[in-house]
Amino acid sequence: MALLLCHECYWWGEPNQGRCPECWHALDASVPDPAPEALGQALGRLLSRVGEIRVNRNALPDRGTLYATTTGLLFLPHEPDRETRMVETGSATESLMWLLASLVWSPLHFLALWTRKRSVTPMHVRVFRPRRLTAADSSRLAEFLMQNPGVFFVPRKSIRSAVRRFNCWRIDRCLGSMLKLRPDSEKHQFHQRFAELLAAERWNGAEPPIRTDPRSRTDVPVRGSAQ
Ligand SMILES: [Zn+2]
Repeated sequence: MALLLCHECYWWGEPNQGRCPECWHALDASVPDPAPEALGQALGRLLSRVGEIRVNRNALPDRGTLYATTTGLLFLPHEPDRETRMVETGSATESLMWLLASLVWSPLHFLALWTRKRSVTPMHVRVFRPRRLTAADSSRLAEFLMQNPGVFFVPRKSIRSAVRRFNCWRIDRCLGSMLKLRPDSEKHQFHQRFAELLAAERWNGAEPPIRTDPRSRTDVPVRGSAQ
């Protein structure tokens, strides 16, 4: 699968009929990506970590950390890793013996639960580790986006509304499909931090206000581009 970075919505995707599957703008492999300086300017500088989330997408990583930057939201997928854990296992031979015996005489099935030999074995398991950024990483955001197709960016000015429904924030964008953000840990803190960010004057600047009330119908005009 050949993934390209869309220069309009800042998502990686496989072109569909020459267009970005997210925002439907032209996606051409022959068009060079923006210069790191220009991309870094679009992504802004790190403001804060909002929290660990799950997002609604299938082909690319859906678990990661959401960061607020001065110009939008940056999603950084968790890093896959392996670690050794002690896992309790039963004796396969003995388990099979008990299974066959319990088919003949059902009371043995209950006895087997108490007498089955168990052992603890070290096993290599796959884990995903959140990536923590510091203020020193502010100058590397463009690098993260260009090196990892799992990273995506949502410009602040492309967000029309952010409405909370129970444990999920539904982000309506001028460019791209509805984005659903669900906290993966520290749920209470995530909701609090995200609500504070949406209301923060320094984050909103001169941009039209983000609609957060589901009953409100005051839509912000659709923008033609979100650079
Ligand atoms: Zn796009």
